Amino acid sequence: MLDDSVAIPPPREPSAAIAPPLGRWLASAWRLLLPYWVSEERWRARGLLALIIVIDWGQTYLSVRFSYWQRNYWDALAEHDAAAFWGLMWVYPAIVAFWSVSATARTWFFQALEMRWRAWMTDVFLHHYLDENAYYRIARTGSADNPDQRVGEDLKMLASDSLRLFLGFLENMAVLVSYAAIVWSLSGSLAFAVSGVRVDIPGYMLWVAVIFALAGTWLLEKIGYPLVRVDYYQQRYEAHFRYLMMRVRENAEQVAFYSGGRAEIARLSAAFSAIRENWRRIMDYTKRITLFHEGYIQLGVYLPYLIIGPRYFAGAITLGAVQQLSQSFSRVRMALSWFVFAYKDLALLRSVFLRLIEFEAATRARDAGGITITPPVRADRLDVRALDLRLPNGERLLRIDELSFRAGERWVIRGPSGAGKSTLLRAMAGLWPHGEGEIALPDGKKMFLPQRSYLPLGALRACLCYPGDEREFGMDECAAALRAVRLEHFIDRLEEHDHWERRLSPGEQQRLAFARVLLHRPDWLFLDESTASLDPANEAAMYRLLAQRLPHAAIVSVAHREGVAAFHDWALDLSAAGVVEIAL
Ligand code: ADP
Repeated sequence: MLDDSVAIPPPREPSAAIAPPLGRWLASAWRLLLPYWVSEERWRARGLLALIIVIDWGQTYLSVRFSYWQRNYWDALAEHDAAAFWGLMWVYPAIVAFWSVSATARTWFFQALEMRWRAWMTDVFLHHYLDENAYYRIARTGSADNPDQRVGEDLKMLASDSLRLFLGFLENMAVLVSYAAIVWSLSGSLAFAVSGVRVDIPGYMLWVAVIFALAGTWLLEKIGYPLVRVDYYQQRYEAHFRYLMMRVRENAEQVAFYSGGRAEIARLSAAFSAIRENWRRIMDYTKRITLFHEGYIQLGVYLPYLIIGPRYFAGAITLGAVQQLSQSFSRVRMALSWFVFAYKDLALLRSVFLRLIEFEAATRARDAGGITITPPVRADRLDVRALDLRLPNGERLLRIDELSFRAGERWVIRGPSGAGKSTLLRAMAGLWPHGEGEIALPDGKKMFLPQRSYLPLGALRACLCYPGDEREFGMDECAAALRAVRLEHFIDRLEEHDHWERRLSPGEQQRLAFARVLLHRPDWLFLDESTASLDPANEAAMYRLLAQRLPHAAIVSVAHREGVAAFHDWALDLSAAGVVEIAL
């Protein structure tokens, strides 16, 4: 049994709107597939696709020619016809040369098209995900799990598997039609009498191939189907194990302080035993499938030899034709099996589609009603009117009837932990929809410093200039900003790439955030416990710095510490009793 403590929660079932009936589902899949083929890249995409199809058909034609080559070869040998033999010897290298060049070109074009499609889709999905705060909404509401997997893995599969299946379909159609014609023409008809009535089955070998392929594939499907499910679980167990490893890496210091190595080994070993147990199931099913599959393949080679024998001895076909017929029989069998097997790939692709459609819907979803952000009532004022701030479950956090912050004013928002201070800032940033009321945001540049700073991967300079582009600010400007927040010892390392989130202490990260403010020079600055990790002296220095460098900026600080109030003109006290404005 799997250990419940490491079992992964069951995957979210797609909601009814997302797992629609087949017709609606096909329509959504079509909407997902189509855009690239009608985009600005359409001619290149269609050209590459057409090229691949032409190569595929050319190769099928060539393989049919080759089956005739082999037939002629065996006939020439059987008839001791040296002239025909040497004539054929020139053809083979030409076929090989064309085959290898075209196969290489096909792979090249396929890979190019696959990546072009994926890149185009990734760009679209990244915009949907990162524009208009969709990523935050999705994280807050949990409306789509693992966006990384969807944008990374699923889009890759969408492009490569759709192409592979579509081209496989066309190719196998061509193979089926060409080789079925050969089998039909060479197999003759089977005549026998049933209670005096003469029955004549033309092209009977073709029917044998059809029945053999369908029956075999059906049986294989019965034996092998559970493997799909077990494979799916293997992926999840592997992902979970990787995720636990990543958590140790990301939290190395915390784990080390707790001496949590042993606890982590236990957790990881338990997760790995899930991988191992499931692997055992994979081995079992693979064993059954291999046993059947090997026997089936060999039987598929043997069967045409068996049924062709009587016709050969009756003198109806030549030795070369025997060879060609048995090969064509195998081709027809394989092409038919493809059609039956493809549905399994289609089922997998369908789950990729579902995940992407669900993700698309999540990125497009807008928060219904709730708190609205309106244009400014007056350009230099932030006005809050009849605001009921609520939790997602509808519970009221706080109510503000009327509140105005004017340009240049300095406000501190105080109150016990959990009173809703950060949530009020979220609402002002347009990130919190739960509740009712209006917030009219002023004109001018606004900047929010969240409780936990964010440092992107890359050079320290990129961390400093975030979210701006580092080329916007000169090196001198960056150095001056660092000096102002007492981080001058990092000036030499501005171009250094590192995991800065781990390298800088929380206090240093907060000072870096103030350096960002100096570079961006906002008119409205919202600070959420932005000095909580600093000692009182540094905290005071940061606020004095703001007063000197941004004397006209409005500042709204959420803070616990008493000392912070000294740098503000007004306080907004949030408590269970209500919201009170106090002049300081
Ligand atoms: P604080 O006044 O300490 O800044 P917050 O505004 O962060 O308080 O949180 C206020 C309340 O809202 C807390 O009880 C918190 O648990 C709850 N809360 C915050 N974010 C969410 C969320 N995404 N979903 C549900 N509850 C939340």
